Amino acid sequence: MTRAAVALGSNLGDRIRHLCRAVEGLKASATVVAVSSVYETAPVGGPEQGPYLNAVVVIDTDLDAHGLLEALHVIEQEAGRERTVRWGPRTLDLDLILFGDQVIDDDTLTVPHPRLAERRFVLEPLTEVWPDAKLPDGAAVAELLDDVQDQQVHRTHHRLRPKPRDGFAARGGWWVVIQGVVLAAATWAVVADGGSLPWPGWVSSLGVAVFAGGAVQSLLGLQHLGANLTPYPEPLSGARLVALGVYRWVRHPIYGGIVMMILGAALFRLSAWTLLVGLAAGVFFWMKARFEERRLMEHYPGYAAYRSQVRRRLIPWIV
Ligand code: ADP
Ligand code: MG
Repeated sequence: MTRAAVALGSNLGDRIRHLCRAVEGLKASATVVAVSSVYETAPVGGPEQGPYLNAVVVIDTDLDAHGLLEALHVIEQEAGRERTVRWGPRTLDLDLILFGDQVIDDDTLTVPHPRLAERRFVLEPLTEVWPDAKLPDGAAVAELLDDVQDQQVHRTHHRLRPKPRDGFAARGGWWVVIQGVVLAAATWAVVADGGSLPWPGWVSSLGVAVFAGGAVQSLLGLQHLGANLTPYPEPLSGARLVALGVYRWVRHPIYGGIVMMILGAALFRLSAWTLLVGLAAGVFFWMKARFEERRLMEHYPGYAAYRSQVRRRLIPWIV
């Protein structure tokens, strides 16, 4: 399985329809990982022609690079493309931008695409959906953007994929409701129940330490997320992957911190009910994090790499 990036362009006929069908066509030979926004750009080079719509699709494929190029040509032909004028107007142009970390240069194929670094209309959508994409030599694609800022690209409102956050349930609304119930139950248990566990006094001190550790972890996570914090477990468009601060150690520090705080309070109060709610909260946040990560994996091709780098999900070194 190889991860690849394909650039889409169209400036003839029903441009948005050509791009949509290209995404559908790609699904026949690959798993579509991410689809960028649609950008409008003035044509570069060639004869006088209308503006382009451009986008980038990131895929996982079992084909080799030449096999994929053939598949791209088939999709182009199905969109009625005729190869007449080089760089002339076309219903659909599909270019293979990156193919794993392979470097290929033969009669039919050059990868990475030779004009990648010069084209903001490719770099911009590519970094939108794959912010940590790298060239085979290890250079960051995002840094190439600095040199093409003078080119004009305009992000349009068109979408090549159905909007991902439709409706309360699809956005994860029920997770938020259950979370409210879990937190209310924890508050109730801490206030109403205490002293029922026959444990020695030092357990209470341990509870204070666990609570404080959880509070610090949550606050560090909150501070790091800042304005990116949303009530829903949904990825924010354009948000960068987080591998800084507490996110170097744990992928969901706020959830883990809350669980630690509840468990710490249970030990401090020697409360059986709080302990029970704390364990339930652990299971709940574990599952909520799983739901969230599935969505992140769909939206950010780099998330798999982050996950393999940061193994702990809720509490550093432990779980
Ligand atoms: P362009 O995309 O440069 O405007 P075309 O789409 O007409 O031009 O492609 C011309 C040829 O470029 C194709 O027949 C293909 O074999 C070759 N080619 C070389 N490298 C690539 C690549 N990375 N992606 C797509 N086509 C490529
Ligand atoms: Mg092409």
